[in-house]
Amino acid sequence: MTMKNASTPLFFAGIDIGSTAIKVALVNEEGALVGEHTTDSGSLFHKNAQAALQTLLDNNGVERAQVRYLIATGYGRKLFKEADDSISEITANGIGAHEVGKRHGGIRTIINIGGQDSKAIEIDDTGNVVNFAMNDKCAAGTGRFLDVAARNLEIDLEELGDYHFMGTGAPLSINSTCTVFAESEIIGLLASGHGKGEIVAGIHYSIAKRTARLARRVGIDGKIYMDGGPALNKGLVAAIADELEREIVVPDAPQTTTAFGAALLARSEWLADQGQGGGDRVDA
Ligand code: ADP
Repeated sequence: MTMKNASTPLFFAGIDIGSTAIKVALVNEEGALVGEHTTDSGSLFHKNAQAALQTLLDNNGVERAQVRYLIATGYGRKLFKEADDSISEITANGIGAHEVGKRHGGIRTIINIGGQDSKAIEIDDTGNVVNFAMNDKCAAGTGRFLDVAARNLEIDLEELGDYHFMGTGAPLSINSTCTVFAESEIIGLLASGHGKGEIVAGIHYSIAKRTARLARRVGIDGKIYMDGGPALNKGLVAAIADELEREIVVPDAPQTTTAFGAALLARSEWLADQGQGGGDRVDA
């Protein structure tokens, strides 16, 4: 659907204020992704969210007034009072994954690992959430665990994926069920001379086992779509694929799919307000 009388192009934005990172995405009148931007959440969520949005607009030569509708999502969404609406990150994730999943023959099962939680989500063939399971009680299956492990191992977070495939031995088992104890366990393994590759692979399998349990709770249908920042880690993705014995599809920009979903919903809510359909989605 295209909009008439648009002498100045219009845009729609989604802002995902996560516990660890703020992600913003911009779509145009046709719902195509125009740009996205990611920054640390820091301690000043609201200020950092405003700055992230401004950076995205500046990077794409878009004025704030051209953004006709903005939806906030994520952990800190209620803080972003200037948003036109807010929705849960589960709903937004479903919409984003559904849209990206069209290029992969359709997606019904999503695994999202974030900075401080992890989720498995089942969506229907329109992207509506029908079921989900969430772990937000324990950091051990989340990005936080990877951040702590990378620091202990003195490896850049971005390099964990490469180390996963470097080990000469089998992945070591990390038995601690709590990040704090796992930290001591990792230091103990290093002190007894184990290689970083085997330790990293062990960490990834420990997260993968937890994630697999979560995914089995919602049920798995077809290919699995994985997003969230830790989906950038190819070693972790391989470990989860191995645990679940399934193909895992990772989008090009996995950290921003939820913001993209919020931007798409912003567009359809705006269209609904203009009497052009859409907008009838139930928040999960
Ligand atoms: P949230 O929405 O909860 O803030 P994100 O989906 O933004 O979480 O994911 C944040 C996590 O992503 C970080 O804790 C970090 O572990 C992971 N991450 C971010 N960038 C990378 C990267 N380049 N490689 C691997 N992991 C990454």
